[in-house]
Amino acid sequence: MTQEYKVLIGGKWREATSGERMEVINPANGRPFASVPRCGPEDVDRAVEAALEAQPAWAGRPMSERSKVLLKLSQLIRDHLEDLAKLETMEQGSPIRKTMGMDIPSCAEHFEYFAGIARGMTGETLPVGPWAASMTVHEPLGVVGLITPWNFPALMVVWKMAAAIVTGNTCVVKPPSVAPLTSLRIGELAMEAGIPSGVVNVITGPGSTAGESIVRHRGIAKIGFTGDSATGKRIMSLASETVKPVGLELGGKNPFIVLADADIESAVEGAVWGAFFNSGQVCAAASRFYIHESLYEEFARKFVARAGALRMGDPMNMETVIGPLAYKEHRDKVESYIAEAKRSGAKLLLGGERPDTPQTRGGYFVAPTVFGDCTNDMTFMQDEMFGPVVGLARFQTIDEAVALANDTKYGLSGSVWTKDVRAGLVIAGRMKAGTVWVNEHLCISCETPWGGCKESGWGKDASTMALEEYTLTKHIYVDLIGQPDRPWYGILK
Ligand code: NDP
Repeated sequence: MTQEYKVLIGGKWREATSGERMEVINPANGRPFASVPRCGPEDVDRAVEAALEAQPAWAGRPMSERSKVLLKLSQLIRDHLEDLAKLETMEQGSPIRKTMGMDIPSCAEHFEYFAGIARGMTGETLPVGPWAASMTVHEPLGVVGLITPWNFPALMVVWKMAAAIVTGNTCVVKPPSVAPLTSLRIGELAMEAGIPSGVVNVITGPGSTAGESIVRHRGIAKIGFTGDSATGKRIMSLASETVKPVGLELGGKNPFIVLADADIESAVEGAVWGAFFNSGQVCAAASRFYIHESLYEEFARKFVARAGALRMGDPMNMETVIGPLAYKEHRDKVESYIAEAKRSGAKLLLGGERPDTPQTRGGYFVAPTVFGDCTNDMTFMQDEMFGPVVGLARFQTIDEAVALANDTKYGLSGSVWTKDVRAGLVIAGRMKAGTVWVNEHLCISCETPWGGCKESGWGKDASTMALEEYTLTKHIYVDLIGQPDRPWYGILK
């Protein structure tokens, strides 16, 4: 018996106009356990209408009030930690150890953070001269469309929603079809927290119909999108029809550089974390490793030993650290890259086979897989695989390492491992990426801006910069002369 969810429009739970539904499948066993409405353009219209209606009153509330309801929502997320974490594990396959220990607490923290920083938002006064008061104010954009991916289904929605609603916007959220349930639940908790009807609307449905209708809709002022680079390009072109701004957090193919003087134990631990957290289904996952030739053999041996010991199995078990991939077609895609890597001459050092244990049978599991002797001309060293599969390559000089790291269409993140912090900083400056870590990989928090360059997109989530993403900086000029004439009017006289 599958549970039937409805979508949230204008504070009411509704079916899709068409009456159609889509199944949600548990990737740990391949079985459907829930279904959601398959919304289309008519449902998007209804959601945008509700959001437009709610927006002026919501924006008219004092910042302190909006902030307080976000704090309440944050507390409700903490109160429902266990059920939200279980739901996310069931819809997406991430181990409960991670959803309960990190993802859902992080959602609560983001609401808390934005509730706090929004109250400190200020404009500027601009020194145009004593004859005028000139200032900037930050105003909400209106209704924003938030389209999110399945790899961190709850957190990706929260990243955008928290910044958007605290600044007085209302939103229409379209979560991923593979994992839409936590977003619906967060919509429900938002209502419980006292966020007025119509401020948060959550509709489920295919990206190609519901998603595109949101992007095209004239009632929507901006799109906040996280997802694949190809989808980002499509969204950019559709948004151009209405000259709509888009925030694009897209894919990555993130380099991990180990210099000759690196602390090898730290680098190996950081590599395991960076590569296999969330089974590598992370936009910033370390996937291309460039290791100084003097350390290569030792690094490869230690890395493979650690990666091979990661416990894979039922994601609902607190001991499991590697769960299944999120859905079957994605598992198949990752496996096709493994086959391509084998064909291209890369040396298989670990994994490469579908695991076959009682805990993994029936689910979409891929074992941690490491290839050695890789080169940048191999397809799997260029394409984002979004799975637990990495390639190791050697370098001799720092210039070579930087050139290899930058040899990608992406520009999301990367890391450098060295005991020489000065060298780390210099290399960080030479890497074309939105974030570079020195002696760390995958360290992301609400306080730090997140976003890439090149085909990894633009715009920032998290940090104070996210508030600017969801506001219009308006310039207001007030004349202080108070007389009909101005010195510069002489130009027309
Ligand atoms: P997709 O681009 O396939 O989907 C993302 C969202 O877009 C889903 O809600 C999807 O709906 C929707 N969508 C799909 N097609 C369209 C369309 N034509 N118009 C409007 N919306 C559409 O990405 P994935 O869900 O597969 O997520 C994985 C990707 O996300 C990876 O590339 C990863 O790197 C990236 N990502 C980037 C992050 C960053 O911060 N840079 C963070 C996390 C992930 P539906 O599910 O119905 O197809």
